[in-house]
Amino acid sequence: MAQIVVLGAGMVGVCTALALQEHGHECIVVDWSPPGSETSYGNAGIIQAEAVEPYSLPTNPLTLLRMALGWRNAVDLRWTSLASQSPELYSYWRSSSPAFLRRVTPLWHQLVLEAVPRHSALIEASGAGNLIRRDGYWEVHTTEAGLSVAINDAERRKRQYGVEFEVADSRALARAEPGLRATLAGAIHWTAPWTCLAPGELVATYAKLFEKRGGRFVTGDAFSLKQAGKGWQVAGESAELVVVALGPWSPDLLKTFGYHVPMVRKRGYHRHYTGDHGLSRPMLLADHSVVLSPMLAGLRIATAADLSAGAPQANPPQLARGETVARSLLHLGEPVEAAPWSGTRPFLPCMLPLVRQADRHPGLWLHFGHGHQGFTLGPVTADRLARAISGDTIAVEGLDRGVR
Ligand SMILES: Cc1cc2nc3c(=O)[nH]c(=O)nc-3n(C[C@H](O)[C@H](O)[C@H](O)COP(=O)(O)OP(=O)(O)OC[C@H]3O[C@@H](n4cnc5c(N)ncnc54)[C@H](O)[C@@H]3O)c2cc1C
Repeated sequence: MAQIVVLGAGMVGVCTALALQEHGHECIVVDWSPPGSETSYGNAGIIQAEAVEPYSLPTNPLTLLRMALGWRNAVDLRWTSLASQSPELYSYWRSSSPAFLRRVTPLWHQLVLEAVPRHSALIEASGAGNLIRRDGYWEVHTTEAGLSVAINDAERRKRQYGVEFEVADSRALARAEPGLRATLAGAIHWTAPWTCLAPGELVATYAKLFEKRGGRFVTGDAFSLKQAGKGWQVAGESAELVVVALGPWSPDLLKTFGYHVPMVRKRGYHRHYTGDHGLSRPMLLADHSVVLSPMLAGLRIATAADLSAGAPQANPPQLARGETVARSLLHLGEPVEAAPWSGTRPFLPCMLPLVRQADRHPGLWLHFGHGHQGFTLGPVTADRLARAISGDTIAVEGLDRGVR
């Protein structure tokens, strides 16, 4: 049994602590904010059983250009700030080649397969069932042509990976969602994902389970980390091993130890709305790249990626477009918050999370870089990390790319 400090109390850090406990280790989590209050709070809340392929870029230059120019609201890019992210984006584009995808997809698929069962066990043990819907989400399309392309792709995913879905045509969708004010072409109903009514609260509930099982939280600054003899000290605590699970902040800490972690910073925004929308489950508006998630705080509109460096935008155009479209479809009501929330997906160009021990610092473990799917994959890679720390190095095979 080792004394281990986990830095970061997002979905990834809290699940790490729970997995280490299950492997018999004594664990402390250090964060300067309460559990689940950053990226793991602000996401769309989908445990994405259907996301069986890594989140790659289109390799066709024309499609890429259309995307960069705002096609489907998928990306926002201030060209003046492109320079600061261009090496990472170039590396991401290279990793999106068919040959690289063939290499990494089987591992990614395996990770995603484990997500719902692992969350299910934690939801049951922590008593968080009231925060979870188990009936998937809609991927809606405005045109017949768009819907038909999506159905073909869903059928391919079903053939290749066994992902379940149903198709709702325009009428079936209108019957299932009577609150819709406009006629849509139809939707894919991804039936396997689970969705969450309050993502931050789910993490906080998992954190209470960790405490109930004897774990401890310490409020402190992860940047106080230093080596002490054969172990580590941080925030007034000593440990034999330390796990960096600081999500988008992880590369900054590792830089102070001489490591370079290229990370694509994919900012996202959300805002809640008060309206009596009537949606029965979350809805991805595929032609506008926003997710409408019914949550305890209201209907959350969550955006795709803003790749611009620097401070978050006060009036993000992706959210504005999402709001306009959502208003045409549903009774949206008024914004709950005075300003949109913003956070950063910690995305590594190789598209896989990083789960490994640091090369030059024994006892320093890395666990971050889950990009678009950290809410989904937190408990999955946490289990692999805990197995690796217990000596099963095969458990993290393939998850070691992306650090120098
Ligand atoms: C708009 C949006 C929608 C998304 N939708 C989904 C989705 O539907 N499904 C999905 O699976 N994923 C989704 N994601 C991605 C997902 O939210 C992230 O991958 C995940 O939350 C990352 O978790 P984490 O624990 O690594 O990071 P975080 O949750 O950010 O946790 C990092 C922790 O480190 C702490 N920290 C940072 N610096 C310090 C310091 N110096 N000292 C102490 N503590 C520190 C922070 O306080 C924080 O608690 C979405 C993301 C966004 C932005």
